[in-house]
Amino acid sequence: MTLDYTVVIPTTGRDNLIPLLSAVTGCAGPRPAEIIVVDDRPTGPPLSLPGFVRVVRSGGRGPAAARNAGWRLARTEWVAFLDDDVIVSGSWAADLAADLDVGLDVAASQARIVVPVGPRPTDDERGTVGLETSRWITADMAYRRSALVEVGGFDERFPRAFREDSDLALRVLAAGHELRRGTRRTTHPAAHGDFLASLRRQAGNADNALMRHKHGPGWRHRAAASPGLLGQHALTTVSAAAGAVLAGPRRTRRLAGAAAAVWAMLTCSFAWRRIRPGPRTRSEVARMLVTSVLIPPAAVGHRVAGELRVRRRWTDRSVAAVLFDRDDTLIADVPYLNDPEQVRPVPGAAEVLRRLRAAGIPVGVVSNQSGVARGLISPEQLTAVNDRVEALLGPFDTWQVCVHGDADGCPCRKPAPGLVRRAAEALGVDPRRCVVIGDTGADVDAAEAAGARGILVPTDRTLPDETARSSTVAATITDAVDLAMSRHPEGGTT
Ligand SMILES: [Mg+2]
Ligand SMILES: [Zn+2]
Repeated sequence: MTLDYTVVIPTTGRDNLIPLLSAVTGCAGPRPAEIIVVDDRPTGPPLSLPGFVRVVRSGGRGPAAARNAGWRLARTEWVAFLDDDVIVSGSWAADLAADLDVGLDVAASQARIVVPVGPRPTDDERGTVGLETSRWITADMAYRRSALVEVGGFDERFPRAFREDSDLALRVLAAGHELRRGTRRTTHPAAHGDFLASLRRQAGNADNALMRHKHGPGWRHRAAASPGLLGQHALTTVSAAAGAVLAGPRRTRRLAGAAAAVWAMLTCSFAWRRIRPGPRTRSEVARMLVTSVLIPPAAVGHRVAGELRVRRRWTDRSVAAVLFDRDDTLIADVPYLNDPEQVRPVPGAAEVLRRLRAAGIPVGVVSNQSGVARGLISPEQLTAVNDRVEALLGPFDTWQVCVHGDADGCPCRKPAPGLVRRAAEALGVDPRRCVVIGDTGADVDAAEAAGARGILVPTDRTLPDETARSSTVAATITDAVDLAMSRHPEGGTT
């Protein structure tokens, strides 16, 4: 069986990486075209790894950013993500090939994760066992590269190994693809954290806030995530706070006693639920008692911080993001450009992008590339050209590319609003606070259909009628960005 795939392993240099690499290369089945290890340690000397491995560094920006750095280098049909702490079977590649022998409608395949633990697992171990039933976790998950290109890969605002995988899966599903559970079995050893590990995991509550804002209140159901304990933690925290406040004045001391009793009851029941299934050793019990007191306020605090972060993005009245058309807006148009050597930025593009980034305004690309559907541009060439654009103009916070043809009736090809909506969603901003800069009527129409504001920068190929009916026209990309930055997007188009 053959299979065109790349293995991408983000790593923090854990000990299991070397055995994993030999297992992947030594197992039965088709060899990967390439193994890309993404070293996500912020600093440090290069990892010493076998010569057949391609290593890139992602600077400690977290697993979402590391996987993006890895798959964007891949040139194969499939990208198989493995975490650096898993153990693959002796037939992993063969099983993967069987799992990926699927129709084009299937965009991803997840392994079955096995977590070996004893009969009375600790709290940490039970946390890892949860992976066995989690959906779409990237410990061992393969995606079609075209699907990753289409949705722009992982959202790098998820800073830790939490929810970034469900978020990607929900976006791939929303793009109309199917995700499957494969049959290959991969072992994930149980975690053994330090005394306060469970407390630190509460940081994930901030990521839940981002999930809710991106995917709506039903996200847990769609991502098969457990309901979570936030409601109970909030009650526990409120009763503790009420007890402390009411304990001051003499008249309210009795109420303070009642609040304290509620707090104690909730805390004890939470602790017991964590102690009961575990090994009940002295150290585990001590750990559960201490952390059960600390977790409720930590969980609430992280959630509140996450909500504030997301909300600030939504209520900021200035422009929240600037999205650029690619051809003849950022770079000189070459019809069906498929050669990275021919990428030529337009004058001023690099400078305005620098200014936007310095002002903390996210930048994105929304581009129609129907040449892909027509077979004039291969997905590989598209990626190579876009990589070249980034090499010359710096990194974009999101890439949204429509690879469909005019007759496909897709929801993304401009003038349809799909690309602009998707970019806004990927950036976590309200589309109404986005500005789209482009050189054709379709760019402006897509912006308006998505509720964003369009600014036309005509070239000599722009039709006079397109210029005439555009409400905002700028002479150059520099003028357009000046306009975008100086005016509120809801300030009207007069
Ligand atoms: Mg254009
Ligand atoms: Zn499309």
